[in-house]
Amino acid sequence: MKKNIANLLFLISVLSVGNILNANNQDISKDVKKPIEIRIDDNGQVIRDQSGSSKNNNNNGQSGQNARISTDAQRGGTETISNSAGTIKVDASYSSQGQDYRQKFIILHYTAGNRESSLKTLTKNEVSAHYMVSDNKSEPVYSLVDENKRAWHAGVSDWKGRNNLNDTSIGIEIVNDGDVSGTFVPYKDFQIKEVAVLVKYLADKYEIPATNILGHSDIAPQRKSDPGPLFPWRELYTQYNIGMWYDNETKNNYEREYETKLSMTPVSDVQRELNKFGYGISITGSWDKQTKNVIKAFQHHFRPSNYNGEMDVETFAILKALNEKYNNKK
Ligand SMILES: [Zn+2]
Repeated sequence: MKKNIANLLFLISVLSVGNILNANNQDISKDVKKPIEIRIDDNGQVIRDQSGSSKNNNNNGQSGQNARISTDAQRGGTETISNSAGTIKVDASYSSQGQDYRQKFIILHYTAGNRESSLKTLTKNEVSAHYMVSDNKSEPVYSLVDENKRAWHAGVSDWKGRNNLNDTSIGIEIVNDGDVSGTFVPYKDFQIKEVAVLVKYLADKYEIPATNILGHSDIAPQRKSDPGPLFPWRELYTQYNIGMWYDNETKNNYEREYETKLSMTPVSDVQRELNKFGYGISITGSWDKQTKNVIKAFQHHFRPSNYNGEMDVETFAILKALNEKYNNKK
């Protein structure tokens, strides 16, 4: 799909008149940070053209260099700031070497509701996300919060010791019913393609590494199940080089190694391995509920054919293979 992100409509407006949150929306309704004075401009519909950002679409971290140069080129020049305290001139012709982006993570969600209720929840309540991918193919992807502002989508969350990921992430909500009485609802193909375009664009723009492209359940495994086991992480990796995936051969080697060894492996070692990968988990040495929830979140992401929360040989082999590939630094 060659859908150019530059043609996304940036729609910041009051889109529907409504009142109360629909009961379907449990998933996103509890992720509100304490309200602070950040509000979206609501002067009606704003259409903005975000041009020149999709040239470097290979999401490997290198191409972000160009994005930075063009940002600096746009800076340049001088401007005058005047207010009741006085007037100053600001010159942006020098640029510091030491700088990076505030946007460190991309977090994917399902809305657990239909298009109308999702949009209402995300625009009329405190919960929010930077983008919403509709389930109606004729619609654009909606930008609901400026990328430089915080959206309230992650809630209590952590990854690799960083917490409160609302501060450092971009949240993408995908319209999908989620878990309906224990059965997850598949995503539509066009939604996955739109997500791929959007994630690639954001990862490239902000130099976000594959290891920081995650699901809500990864950063809040005790509370959340989205984007769920039907979200095709493997497809995103193999088709678009988005996010993390393991190498089969490495996995097979670990499977052989742990076939008999896993049952003798202390629980605390398993917990440390999950923690090394990024999950927030207490090293308790027992198969407690929090450990099962983390294993389940991991299985949703990397072994979706069976996500019973039990640590089996295949799951552990995948975890070891991922850590070897992405977290091998001592
Ligand atoms: Zn979520």
